Amino acid sequence: MNLKNKKITVIGLGKSGFAAAKFLKGQGARVRVTEGAETKAVLESADFLTSLDIPVETGRHTAGFMRGSDLIVTSPGVSKKSSPLQFAMKRKLPVISEIELASYFCPGLIVAVTGSNGKTTAIRLIDRALREARRKSVLCGNVGASFLDALPSIDKKSVVVVELSSFQLEDSPTFRPRIAVVLNISPNHLDRHGSMEKYIMAKEKIFANQQASDFLILNFDDPLVRAMAKKVRSKVVFFSKHRIAEGFFVEDGKVVNKKGKSEKTVLDCSRAKLKGSHNLENILAALAVASILKVPRDKIQNTVYSFETLEHRIEHAGTVGGVHFINDSKSTTVESAKAAILSVDAPMVLIAGGRNKGTTFESLEPLLEKKVKCVVLYGEARAQIAGAWKTYKRVHPVKDFCDAVRLAYRLSDPGDSILLSPMCASFDQFSCFEERGTVFKQISASLGRSSKQDPAVGIS
Ligand code: ADP
Repeated sequence: MNLKNKKITVIGLGKSGFAAAKFLKGQGARVRVTEGAETKAVLESADFLTSLDIPVETGRHTAGFMRGSDLIVTSPGVSKKSSPLQFAMKRKLPVISEIELASYFCPGLIVAVTGSNGKTTAIRLIDRALREARRKSVLCGNVGASFLDALPSIDKKSVVVVELSSFQLEDSPTFRPRIAVVLNISPNHLDRHGSMEKYIMAKEKIFANQQASDFLILNFDDPLVRAMAKKVRSKVVFFSKHRIAEGFFVEDGKVVNKKGKSEKTVLDCSRAKLKGSHNLENILAALAVASILKVPRDKIQNTVYSFETLEHRIEHAGTVGGVHFINDSKSTTVESAKAAILSVDAPMVLIAGGRNKGTTFESLEPLLEKKVKCVVLYGEARAQIAGAWKTYKRVHPVKDFCDAVRLAYRLSDPGDSILLSPMCASFDQFSCFEERGTVFKQISASLGRSSKQDPAVGIS
């Protein structure tokens, strides 16, 4: 694609917008960037781009700045209702994601993974299996470098493993991965998509351009994902936690690959370090990708038998006064919180809350009754979450996150677990989920130095 002298506006100056601006400049485009925020990070990026002679507008979006654009490259964080995207829509300007742009220039084989939960775990497993087999794997997208920044390290032999959110897929009209994976679908980001139907439609873009020679890996156990098989041109490979007619499934604690009449045992689930039935889904999906890419079975086994839990994902964060702290700060949906509760032994105190992403919390109640001693709710969403539960009343709302952790400790007894699995975004009190998880771990470590009675907590 020739971008020389094309007038292109990049919306948003996060990781992908910054990469897009630099890349487009390198291609000889007349690029400019508009960003509504004016944080320290934004201003630093803006300074850098200005030094490359790229005009940057920060703290506002003005129509004059975008006028005359031939193409818009948008960032995943930018809402369709925002003024620059409204401007583009009114003028029928083509809008694409940084992923779409990078795919035009990518010589490698693309494996794309989406789903409401488990993407990072699955792509890291795929990447590790490829590396075990001494294949060239490049991880990018939401994890690691942006796709555009990764391009220089990608050649014809590379396998590019991309983690994609619904937002990136929404603006990727011709994106065609050789192998696509849909892990699961549960309500997520409905504040931005507006409805579950629109969210599913965005996820389905992952296979919309696939052809008969491509592969689509689907979770048979998720009805919404299974139904996608009816809409595709590519070869569907199912995975399941139960025996199915064909695909990768679990039987008697072993993963089996069944194709036609052939049935092969791939690995022993009990030797996997990743625990929990949700992680079995991630393992099955990764295994299907690795098998299609002809990674030998012993390399797949080495990967699964040695792969440890990732930070902030049901991570054991130490034991203080006999109480086990479990950091699942990455959990920002009800489904991921269910997965975490199911994988932790009762009794437990759950810490949840933060900023709601348009989720409803009713469906968690039966599991709380069964497994959770009490819930400490913090942040913006605390009243809404508490109000969603009709019979479960062992709830303690607290405004501040740090107070919530201290209160959870006071409410727990030796032998209990304190599980942070917030079901909400972190942005009301933190810059990201990593910061929230790190603060959780810092507080739990400091509790070891104080008595269980000490913490003073303001309950609201
Ligand atoms: P993503 O990249 O999609 O956010 P992660 O692998 O980072 O996924 O995991 C995010 C959260 O979801 C973590 O709390 C994790 O424990 C939970 N989780 C991981 N895989 C699954 C799954 N298959 N189903 C439900 N929850 C999951």
